[in-house]
Amino acid sequence: MNYIKRCISVLFDWVYPRRCTFCDRVLGRHEKYLCNGCRSQIPVPIQEPRCKNCGKPLPSKEQEYCYDCSQHEHNYDYGRGIFMYQPPLKESLMRFKFKGRKEYGEFLGKLMCEYGKDFIRQVRPEVIIPVPVHKKKKNMRGYNQAEVLAKVISRGFSIPIRTDLVLRKKFTKAQKELDRKERKHNLERAFYAKKEAGAYESVLVIDDIYTTGSTVDAIAGKLKKQGVKKVYFLSLCIGKGF
Ligand SMILES: [Zn+2]
Ligand SMILES: [Zn+2]
Repeated sequence: MNYIKRCISVLFDWVYPRRCTFCDRVLGRHEKYLCNGCRSQIPVPIQEPRCKNCGKPLPSKEQEYCYDCSQHEHNYDYGRGIFMYQPPLKESLMRFKFKGRKEYGEFLGKLMCEYGKDFIRQVRPEVIIPVPVHKKKKNMRGYNQAEVLAKVISRGFSIPIRTDLVLRKKFTKAQKELDRKERKHNLERAFYAKKEAGAYESVLVIDDIYTTGSTVDAIAGKLKKQGVKKVYFLSLCIGKGF
């Protein structure tokens, strides 16, 4: 029986080779998630001093908030990005999102569990909500990358996940072409939170990357309108923003 199982697994690896989450090389039989070369290259997570609001790294201990958070109020309470958006995670996220490498989600989600555990235990959310993508986009890609990560975290901490409470109503204009104000407006119209969401006091929003916070803000605004008291976020990466 074991022999048959092993044969099936060897055959499966041959048809769908497992690949390194960081460099995409086909993994050897004794390698898991990362190849031996990449195993020693796991980036260092963002450390203190960091912005009390969004968690971005700060140049000095005297500063409490990053420039962005000192200029703009957020709808969410506070959150954390674990790593800076740079290689090897940058390339990994690109393949995870756009090249069908859904399987990367397992290891990337585990990294979020490992380095985000203190934060998650501190905020103790009642429910996890991944940033939704539009149905058409999800059908095209076959999955929502934030949902793949959120499922790993939900499993790791036994916190329920709900993907039916916040919906993306329609395609928004390409955010890259808009300025901050237009971006915010564009996003506010894009999300919808169901009344049922108000049954939860605290929500943890999961995304793969946080840049200006406008996405999390739009979702937090809708959730709070339905009666949610606290909205936190956790993202794998954090970009520089503006
Ligand atoms: Zn590798
Ligand atoms: Zn900040």
